[in-house]
Amino acid sequence: MIDPGQVWLVGAGPGDPDLLTRKAEKMIRAASVIFHDALVGTGVLALALPDTRLVPVGKRSGRHSKDQRTIDALIVEAALAGERVVRLKGGDPAIFGRTMEELNACRSAGIDARICPGITAASAATASLGTSLTLRAEARRVTFVTAHARKGDPLDLDWASLALPDTTLAIYMGKAAAAEVSRQLIAHGLPCDTPVAWVENASLPSERQFTTRLDLLPLAARTALGDGPAIMLIGQVVASQNLQVAGRVPPPRNAANAACASEDCMAAANNAAS
Ligand code: SAH
Repeated sequence: MIDPGQVWLVGAGPGDPDLLTRKAEKMIRAASVIFHDALVGTGVLALALPDTRLVPVGKRSGRHSKDQRTIDALIVEAALAGERVVRLKGGDPAIFGRTMEELNACRSAGIDARICPGITAASAATASLGTSLTLRAEARRVTFVTAHARKGDPLDLDWASLALPDTTLAIYMGKAAAAEVSRQLIAHGLPCDTPVAWVENASLPSERQFTTRLDLLPLAARTALGDGPAIMLIGQVVASQNLQVAGRVPPPRNAANAACASEDCMAAANNAAS
């Protein structure tokens, strides 16, 4: 499955081990060493054989355990030593996963490095909500975007290209930027009542969901999210009529059920435009 000296970048999916691909599971069991992210679920890591070396190289916002160059070097070193290397990443390695850096590091060292895809957080979140990422006529495109900026840097996003009516926005790493996302999208033309959903710990027993609307998003994000990884979905795919999941956690009263906050909304738009 994995040759000595070979590297596989493997998608671990959103956390539930049942959402691994069969190939990913085989890779995990064939590895002699697994370098894994902080977001890889314990249920997934438990599939590794007892004598496989598990090396956490996780990066969580603000708590970097190893920088990217160190991770690249560790992978290369293990492969050159003849190990069967799995680099296990949350979700799909090809989405906001620093995969090219690791591939390039391997390629320039002459190492055979390959990718095994996984289920990305956006897919897991819409599945949990019981909706689709696209809708005929109403959501013709999906934009995967990260709202993460380096500490102190402003968010450098092309807001006009994100504020399109017939689009689903899947915003990764967006917790800290929720207020700015709300302000900028409204300022660039999205209606205040555009539906928004958050899914935290998608696919895990600890999963939490809530829905709100774009103008109320800052309040909702402040009050309703824990410290697990969370993804924000914006657009008609998360309108209440499309979400019919039995047992869903009801949205917080003060956020989703509040009356139209049109004055706040205008103020937000003005602030963003100024
Ligand atoms: N490669 C990953 C994304 C890595 S970026 C993927 O394809 O899913 C890390 C961000 O992904 C988190 O900050 C969060 O926004 C999102 N994420 C990852 N796992 C998640 C989960 N189980 N539930 C909700 N969001 C998740």
